[in-house]
Amino acid sequence: MDSGPQNAPASSGAGGFAIYFDGASSRRRLVTLEFNDRLEIREYEHTLAAWSYADVRLADSPSGTLRVTCLTAPELARLEIRDTAVAAVLTSRCTLLDENIPGRHGIARIVGWSLAATASIVAVVLFGVPLAADRLTPLVPQAFERRLGDVAEGQVKTMFGGKICDNASGQAAFTKLVNAVRESAGLDTSIQSQVLSSPIPNAFALPGGKVYVFNGLLAKAENADEIAGILAHELGHLRHRDGTRNLIYNGGTSFLIGLLFGDITGSGALIFASRSLVTASYSREAEQNADTFAIDAMHRLGRSPKPMGELMFRVTGKEGDKSLSILASHPLTEDRLARMSHEDQPPSGPPLLTAAEWASLKAICSSKN
Ligand SMILES: [Zn+2]
Repeated sequence: MDSGPQNAPASSGAGGFAIYFDGASSRRRLVTLEFNDRLEIREYEHTLAAWSYADVRLADSPSGTLRVTCLTAPELARLEIRDTAVAAVLTSRCTLLDENIPGRHGIARIVGWSLAATASIVAVVLFGVPLAADRLTPLVPQAFERRLGDVAEGQVKTMFGGKICDNASGQAAFTKLVNAVRESAGLDTSIQSQVLSSPIPNAFALPGGKVYVFNGLLAKAENADEIAGILAHELGHLRHRDGTRNLIYNGGTSFLIGLLFGDITGSGALIFASRSLVTASYSREAEQNADTFAIDAMHRLGRSPKPMGELMFRVTGKEGDKSLSILASHPLTEDRLARMSHEDQPPSGPPLLTAAEWASLKAICSSKN
């Protein structure tokens, strides 16, 4: 017996029209979909097929169409749905819809799945399906993330004050450090990183590939490995698109609707959303994954990840108000600290910066050079 989702959203019954290919002939049939215990594909009074929701998978879809297949159907059988509302109901029920997506990062594919993305948003808004938010994250186009990052950048500067610090010798040292970590982490040159003159000990990664280190964090740091570890951790959040995922979880319905209509720049929704990007904490799981990423990147450089933990611990120890510090968005737990210490190893690679470069980086906000 097949057990369909018992608490599935929306009422059962007719879901709307779709185009169906049965996989045996090339005949294109106009069918109605009924969302019962299984997805019933009907032509007039006949049920042509009934697919278990858990077996339905996303296929390469042209823009504006959601194309799906079924694991238990003939290989060439497929359904094509153009109605967003119908696509949304289907997306909300088929929890393994994009099981075959992870690992594919081509922009063309992401763009091709725009209806799948749209349907996921509708599923989140209408049915509050949390899984759909996870599924949506990989589908957010990179161009959109960059626009989001641009607006959030303004938010960061407003909330934390401060200007970009880039005196020549400090910037040269910072660029050297960022490039070493970025290359070790396997990220391309689209990553932009800058130091902000804010006294708050913090660092940020914003969607679209921007990383900020605040001068307040540099002031507390005692060596280049501490900052390198933090940079690597932030790059981990970028790689895993955690900021975008946070926004989808926390940004609210208005953000999702803005995303849906693609016209969010300059709107109140985006300001609100980018604020949530700056103030929200990453989940425990996201922190662990970013730590794993940072530990690997540091090991590849022949450097220890332990200093990163030491810097964070130093911020905890002395900071009275942690609400704006790096600890607010990256909660530091005992097991995180223990893990970074456990991964300690004697340096096998050269120092990331010379003593003189490190001194220049520490002084990047001074106007003297
Ligand atoms: Zn983090």
